[in-house]
Amino acid sequence: MRITCVGGGPAGLYFAVLAKLADPRHRITVLERDPAGVTYGWGVVFWDDLLDDLFRHDPVSAARIVDAACGWDEYEVRATGKPVTHLGGYGFSLGRHRLLEILGERARQLGVEVRYEAELADPAALPPADLVVACDGAGSRIRDFRARHFGTRIETGRNKYIWLGTPHVFRTFTFGFERTEAGWIWFHAYPFTDRASTFIAECPPETWTGLGLDRLDPADGCARLREIFSAHLDGRPLDHAGRGWRNFRRITAERWDHGNVVLMGDAAHTTHFAIGSGTKLAMQDAMALADAIAGGIADGTALSAALERYEHRRRVALAPLQRAARASSAWFERMPEYADLPARRFSYALSNRRGEYPAWRYLLHMSTQGTAGRTMLRWTLSARRWHRARRRPAGRLSAALS
Ligand SMILES: Cc1cc2nc3c(=O)[nH]c(=O)nc-3n(C[C@H](O)[C@H](O)[C@H](O)COP(=O)(O)OP(=O)(O)OC[C@H]3O[C@@H](n4cnc5c(N)ncnc54)[C@H](O)[C@@H]3O)c2cc1C
Repeated sequence: MRITCVGGGPAGLYFAVLAKLADPRHRITVLERDPAGVTYGWGVVFWDDLLDDLFRHDPVSAARIVDAACGWDEYEVRATGKPVTHLGGYGFSLGRHRLLEILGERARQLGVEVRYEAELADPAALPPADLVVACDGAGSRIRDFRARHFGTRIETGRNKYIWLGTPHVFRTFTFGFERTEAGWIWFHAYPFTDRASTFIAECPPETWTGLGLDRLDPADGCARLREIFSAHLDGRPLDHAGRGWRNFRRITAERWDHGNVVLMGDAAHTTHFAIGSGTKLAMQDAMALADAIAGGIADGTALSAALERYEHRRRVALAPLQRAARASSAWFERMPEYADLPARRFSYALSNRRGEYPAWRYLLHMSTQGTAGRTMLRWTLSARRWHRARRRPAGRLSAALS
């Protein structure tokens, strides 16, 4: 098959890798508008479930991802006027640049043609191919050009956010809430190398305008945020890398395919960063689409049946996470309502923002705030992480140690 992926993000590159592994005869081209090594954003988080999937589908790139990733082993919650509290949990993070470098290299090694600085300028003129995968991100031009057919809906979140990086290396995943004269503002931060962390600042629109952030250019805005969050940054700067404040856009589409064009990743659905899963879902879309076409596509009818299988499988898998993402982003939109809770109850409300926990989780949370309980919990979770890494076919040691 001739396959063109428009967009060389995690979805497009990973799909190209898997489709080529499934059938080396496929002629696959990835068109990416940015130059090689250039992308937006900083580090992204993920968990064991994605690693398990990656090892099942392509152990080679999975091992490289694990080796490049950084591990963290609890959440820290800081809020003005409250003692620091902790939440159990562990995860991994990796720079988006590095992830794309690994996937791009792997794709090229397998014989995929990855063309950088190759923007699809006119969505009405798609390249000739048996299958065109529209993996051109949340702002997908291909989707927007056929918006009536795809039934695209866009809901805009209330809060303002900005995706920043900093050379300050946070010890672990940290939420920091600051009370200012204009209201609450907070960050979600985590290390993604031993030299840098992701730092996402978020606040209600009133706080944003009240602090004058709406009137500052990105560089002055970063300087202002650095002052506001000075207690957390150890004097280190914040870097906006050319991106400004945004409102999250929740994008959904009623249909994901049209003729030989199919949507994948953020082009089909976006997932709020409050649950840190958009990259995972984009890569899992790639797995499902590669599986759906693996048996070969004889004609147009077989193609549309395969695309339907892909869409059905992914919609079922996405539904619970999308509910979780909505609940989670809604919690952050209501954050000031929780601000007067005592520290431990506040951090529990934050951890249970999807509202799904059974009562024992509250008891566990309360009993693991002291040093002994917290240490026990971290050991238990480390053992679980190690055990899970051991079951994977490759990269076991690095997964356990990261
Ligand atoms: C603040 C923030 C934090 C996040 N944190 C996390 C996290 O911790 N964990 C996580 O799993 N997810 C996270 N995400 C979500 C994640 O970034 C996305 O879900 C993921 O990047 C989607 O992958 P994709 O390949 O579908 O799209 P993208 O990564 O957006 O890739 C699309 C690609 O298409 C290219 N492109 C666009 N138009 C064209 C064109 N016309 N021609 C050629 N190329 C084109 C773009 O340059 C881009 O490289 C976060 C998102 C945000 C906003």
